[in-house]
Amino acid sequence: MLEERLGRKEVEAGSKLRRLRRTDAIRDMLSENRLHVSSLVAPVFVRDGEHVEEPVASMPGISRYSVDKLSDHVGRLTDVGIRSVLLFGIPDSKDDAGTGAYSADGPVPRAIRELKSQYPTLVVAADVCLCEYTSHGHCGVLEGGTVSNARTLPFLAKAATQYADAGADIVCPSAMMDGQVLAIRKALDESGHEEELLMGYSAKYASSFYGPFRDAARSAPSFGDRKGYQMSPANSREAMREIDSDIKEGADIVMVKPALPYLDVISKARSRHDVPIAAYSVSGEYSMIKASSAKGWLDERGAAMEVATSIKRAGADIIITYFAEQLAVWLREEQ
Ligand SMILES: [Zn+2]
Repeated sequence: MLEERLGRKEVEAGSKLRRLRRTDAIRDMLSENRLHVSSLVAPVFVRDGEHVEEPVASMPGISRYSVDKLSDHVGRLTDVGIRSVLLFGIPDSKDDAGTGAYSADGPVPRAIRELKSQYPTLVVAADVCLCEYTSHGHCGVLEGGTVSNARTLPFLAKAATQYADAGADIVCPSAMMDGQVLAIRKALDESGHEEELLMGYSAKYASSFYGPFRDAARSAPSFGDRKGYQMSPANSREAMREIDSDIKEGADIVMVKPALPYLDVISKARSRHDVPIAAYSVSGEYSMIKASSAKGWLDERGAAMEVATSIKRAGADIIITYFAEQLAVWLREEQ
């Protein structure tokens, strides 16, 4: 027994962990995880139309931009050191087949071309799904009242190729269709986009925390829910199967979404795989901090920094967050 050999006094002295927390400099030196602006990705909503900058009511500080207004917004992000954005398109018109997702003059391809010409070194990622573009709000095309996996894959592949053609650096399938990574990887390779990165929304949960996003993207399903393709919050072993299969299908980066209620899933994925892991801290995670801090119930900066640090600690390399711009400013102030 250590205690017998050293005597109680020495053991107590040896376990004084507070010594490690005595000063700012010591705490900093011993910090196990650090947030850095280079791991932050800012989600950006781009819509059809011109001269539009439309605030999202349920996400204070976040707006939808038309392509002509987008550059200024992204310029503000790059000014504070953000080097990567993830684009979501909001078309003026929607149809059953989500045509806007894969048309060359849809909001996302136009935004990609614009951003790559203005900011050539910016990493531009594009979400690949149909739900923002379908009149029924589901992530694929319907057959007999349910989303058809087989019929949806070619459309996702088409959209991804379109975004790659426009110059996107990363395409990010989020529809949770089986085989979507393989279908897209194949389509990219066959269209000369072997260098294009693929980030799979591998473990995407059917979450209540997407509420504000659906307001922002006007993409709430018109009937039913997405539980037939998104994952149950109760499952983490199944998330590992999703991640394993995305890696096998060729995903370069895998993602867990949302982040905060699923830190255990990020951590489990981290100990199992060496591939880069992204965590998407979703709209509800953002809005709950914004709303409670507006009421004076939470300190916004402290809470947002703590959440982002916890995501890093869980093992994520990349944090996709609506707080990206603010975090970048705060991190700069801390330097
Ligand atoms: Zn979707």
